[in-house]
Amino acid sequence: MFQKILIANRGEIALRVIRACREMGIKSVAVHSTADADAMHVRMADESVCIGPPSGTHSYLSIPNLISACEITGAEAIHPGYGFLSENADFVQVLEDHGLTFIGPTAEHIRTMGDKITAKDTMKRLGVPCVPGSDGGVDTIEEARKIAADMGYPVIIKATAGGGGRGMKVANSADELDIAFSTARSEGKSVFGNDEVYIEKYLTLPRHIEIQVFGDGKGGAVHLGERDCSLQRRHQKVFEEAPSPVIDEATRQKIGKVCADAIATINYAGAGTIEFLYENGEFYFIEMNTRLQVEHPVTEAIFGIDLVREQIRVAEGLPLSFTQDDLKINGHAIECRINAEKVPEFRPSPGTVHQYHAPGGLGVRMDSAIYDGYVIPPHYDSLIGKLIVHAADRPAALARLHRALGELVVEGIDTTCPLFHALLREKAVQTGEYTIHWLEQWLETDPEI
Ligand code: ADP
Repeated sequence: MFQKILIANRGEIALRVIRACREMGIKSVAVHSTADADAMHVRMADESVCIGPPSGTHSYLSIPNLISACEITGAEAIHPGYGFLSENADFVQVLEDHGLTFIGPTAEHIRTMGDKITAKDTMKRLGVPCVPGSDGGVDTIEEARKIAADMGYPVIIKATAGGGGRGMKVANSADELDIAFSTARSEGKSVFGNDEVYIEKYLTLPRHIEIQVFGDGKGGAVHLGERDCSLQRRHQKVFEEAPSPVIDEATRQKIGKVCADAIATINYAGAGTIEFLYENGEFYFIEMNTRLQVEHPVTEAIFGIDLVREQIRVAEGLPLSFTQDDLKINGHAIECRINAEKVPEFRPSPGTVHQYHAPGGLGVRMDSAIYDGYVIPPHYDSLIGKLIVHAADRPAALARLHRALGELVVEGIDTTCPLFHALLREKAVQTGEYTIHWLEQWLETDPEI
């Protein structure tokens, strides 16, 4: 059993991990930049260590500083949260070399899934259905033109090292291909240090459906159904729910088994998410995230389990605490990502939170690290909280979300809450009938937010 875990992250996800540690009787160590000296995760952890200046590169992403923090505090394991170093295979390697445990999969699995071309090849080999596209990387524009013409437009050019919605460009016709190809390449190079790209058929009416999987690292694995993350802006999720309004139990079990079998075959350890586009009843793999997702609480809500606790247990070498048969869906859950941004422009709005009141009551969970008087630093992601509701079914969850949003007070800064109020009034959101393009198209109509 670990005695002490260091959390290499900040904000709501750092609190999330501290809470799991406390319930398991494990001491927690927070790390922070100088800009985060007054942050809630620092206050809540058992110990804290300053690991550098405000810039993420020199603090939360500094591997030597994190290793030193483990040495100073005697932490035996690191939980990376999401973002920052959570999918950095070199980090995992360095931890292993120092005799520290990374709470997550092996460096090899992270490396395989972090390169989208290798990930797709691996998944195809494991029997997971993929989006039609090039076989591996495409080096020249001539090759790209031929593949796109054979496949038919529209196509999407993706940087193999891309992530967070960056390094992807759509070409609707041959005229747009050259620019899409060179832009995806240069964005891949400048943002991710790798200019290799590949081509996929661009699906025009898909939903984003992702399967939560969990492996024990010894050939055992389960799936925890799907999350529907179709409401997106700039390829970034805004509103997520589980189960999906369009997936029935037979479909869920079928795709879930394909995913669980795939990760069992490779002896995957810990939490993972296999992301698909879903169109006309077919699943198309796009990528796998080898970490806890921002939207994991909707899965926790409907299955009544603690995914972080399970990650820690698996990292300790313990077996999964549930079998596939134990996992039964109960009700419906929805999450809203609340950002410090002014809508509808989505302009960042850092500053001082003069007043904060979190919603509560039955079936309401607010994961946030803000408090009265908290100064949101401008250096990091704009996510300031996640509001998660759980109820017996989708209409009840929507009603609960409406009620909880009405109770939430964040004064002093702008937040994306008005967007959610407006979305709840939309018929498409009420019925769940939307594709990944719906939100952006709706925003173009200049809705009243
Ligand atoms: P990232 O790693 O940047 O998150 P993904 O490959 O997961 O990139 O894709 C993110 C989003 O981009 C998807 O949820 C979807 O909205 C869109 N997308 C990706 N691939 C395609 C495709 N082939 N057709 C249509 N949309 C796509």
